[in-house]
Amino acid sequence: MIEYTVSDGACVLRLSVPPLNTITFPLLNELRAALGRANLDPEVQGIILAGQSDHFSAGADVGLFRGLASDEEAVRTSRLFQEAFQAVEDSPKPVVAAVAGRVMGSALELAMACHFRVCAPSARFSMPEVTLGINPGAGGTQRLPRLIGTEEALTMLLTGEAIDARRARALGLVDAIGEGGDLLESARTSLRSARGPRKTGLCTDKVSNAAANEAAFRGARQRLAGMRPEIVAPWKILEAVQAGLVESFQAGLRREQEGFAACMNTLATRNKIYLFFAARETSRIPGLAEQAAADVTKAAVIGMGTMGTGIAQALMMSGIRVAVLDQDVSALERGVDRIRSSVRKRVEQGRLAPEAAEGMLGLLSATTGWREVADAQLVIEAVFEDAAVKRTVLGQIEGACGEEAIIASNTSTISLDSLAEGMRHPERLVGMHFFNPAHSMPLVEIIRRDATPAKVVATAVRFAKALRKTPVLVRNREGFLVNRLFIPYLKEAFWLLEEGADAPAIDGAMVEFGFPMGPLTLIDMAGLDVLVLTDRVLTGAFRSHGPLSNVAVRLVERGHLGQKSGSGVYRYEKGDRTPRPSAEAARVIAEVQQAEGRAPRPVGQDEIIRRLALRMVNEAFYVMAEGIVQRESDMDVAMVLGTGFPDFRGGVLKYARDLGLGHVRADLDRLAAECGARFAPCRLLREMEGV
Ligand code: NAD
Repeated sequence: MIEYTVSDGACVLRLSVPPLNTITFPLLNELRAALGRANLDPEVQGIILAGQSDHFSAGADVGLFRGLASDEEAVRTSRLFQEAFQAVEDSPKPVVAAVAGRVMGSALELAMACHFRVCAPSARFSMPEVTLGINPGAGGTQRLPRLIGTEEALTMLLTGEAIDARRARALGLVDAIGEGGDLLESARTSLRSARGPRKTGLCTDKVSNAAANEAAFRGARQRLAGMRPEIVAPWKILEAVQAGLVESFQAGLRREQEGFAACMNTLATRNKIYLFFAARETSRIPGLAEQAAADVTKAAVIGMGTMGTGIAQALMMSGIRVAVLDQDVSALERGVDRIRSSVRKRVEQGRLAPEAAEGMLGLLSATTGWREVADAQLVIEAVFEDAAVKRTVLGQIEGACGEEAIIASNTSTISLDSLAEGMRHPERLVGMHFFNPAHSMPLVEIIRRDATPAKVVATAVRFAKALRKTPVLVRNREGFLVNRLFIPYLKEAFWLLEEGADAPAIDGAMVEFGFPMGPLTLIDMAGLDVLVLTDRVLTGAFRSHGPLSNVAVRLVERGHLGQKSGSGVYRYEKGDRTPRPSAEAARVIAEVQQAEGRAPRPVGQDEIIRRLALRMVNEAFYVMAEGIVQRESDMDVAMVLGTGFPDFRGGVLKYARDLGLGHVRADLDRLAAECGARFAPCRLLREMEGV
């Protein structure tokens, strides 16, 4: 696990645990043993701790956290990491960390326990534990402030965001950047100039100003004031940093251990960790491993509207050459302009180097003719959601491209079987359903027809991963997966409106539940007309969905389509996306209530949450029963990544399981009696109850 070599007085300890140098207990033991040996070795004057030349370590094995059975075990795990890293810091001979790649979490904690740090120019540093709902447990809350100051450390610890090598150097997190490519040589130089060990735990210059520390704590507390109560990690991080600076380094370490155990004790953290593993699992598809996926180095996107533009950008961001085609020259130009301005913005925000932006834009070619598309290995169709238009375009793609080219449709509702009719080689058609905005949304549904060969699926899955997205394999059925669950949820919001609930109360309830935005604000953004059209397809296929409230139908009939028309459920002022109460919508609701003979009633937050969440839950069981997804956890990942379902609830099915399936079934029975058959529990749920 650790290679030990000595030359010119320097001992290089090289982590060698392919593929990622993940830190486990056996590695910690070996590290301590290797350090002991180096410290006893009379030839060794200094030690270099390194990984591969392009990657130091991926940090602690998250699997360790999943298996923790008790508070004591959590405390012990944290303590063992802390002690091993303390042994590094206590080395009587100077230790230099030579790091590269993404240096995250415990990998950074290990590097910080070394006396000096040199890094590759492309290295990035972060403490992402907080995003998993835990606090760093291996000394990170103590050493980071001592190296870069309290305020900067709290920012890194509380956001989980990464900084690059230059910033790390400026802040003092690293001592030198190994320009010229030879990291080990830089580490040797650093050792030569070292006058003995410099223990991070004893560094005080960045944290000695008590007033500045207090200001940083106050700032952090203000930032955390609005946090969800389920998520305790940020508070535990703050407590540990504070204890370490106000009391002592040792007190801070103890607080870290306790905080780690407290986080692991919450359902929210366990759910986040569950999702972390579930997301890794989605691309493991039985039968696909042995299928060689085709390499895609050149792709094409047909249709440069909202989706085509985002998809093309996602491809370019991953270094894939892409030809974009639209029949409409002005749509093509608008799309290319949107891509350019989005890339420019990233440069302005410092998220992309100007040279990288140039390189990215160089990958794009725009055309209205089919010749440029001919050599694409994968073509993504993103034209209007109209079966006839799509069929024509699929025919054109087949005419232009080689027989090996894979054709992916981004349709949201049309069955791939119906699109495949008339194709010369329908077997090469696959669904790749991106979400809006496609360059940043992390989910892609890969839709497989019964006839889709494994190689085509394997290529689509690999391609989605190359775009750094999470692919979820879905069987071809109307609405695929996410829309199939989400449309009933959106529809239920309109039933609640019709019954008398206020739009802000409905939206507020779901924000309280944990969604980033409420269903009615969301549908105003996406367009009520889109809901009506999609619902037509879904209700045609799934009678259990029940009808759409006339409130939505009438709003569309009157031209209240949402933000794009200036009004929908809410009213919008020009150039302002703030939802405001709409007198027009209120009138439509009153009309519908009158026509249906319905007296409006107050609807409480509990009922809103219960009805909206359980519509998704019930549909999730139908989806499982039909074998639309491979595993429950795939559905959980897809809903969290595709709709913003709160990750601390673990996804739709995990949420149902945490409520208890018996409880869910009883609630659905009650709602079916009160609101209608759309709530009647799926048979699978009845069968699984108690399992
Ligand atoms: P859009 O109307 O914004 O863009 C469609 C583009 O296709 C237009 O620029 C149009 O000029 C072009 N086009 C139409 N016919 C063409 C043809 N024959 N040849 C070449 N170009 C042609 O539509 P959109 O919102 O980007 O949606 C595209 C597809 O993505 C649809 O199937 C839609 O259902 C799906 N989708 C949309 C979203 C979304 O949120 N908008 C999300 C997921 C999937």
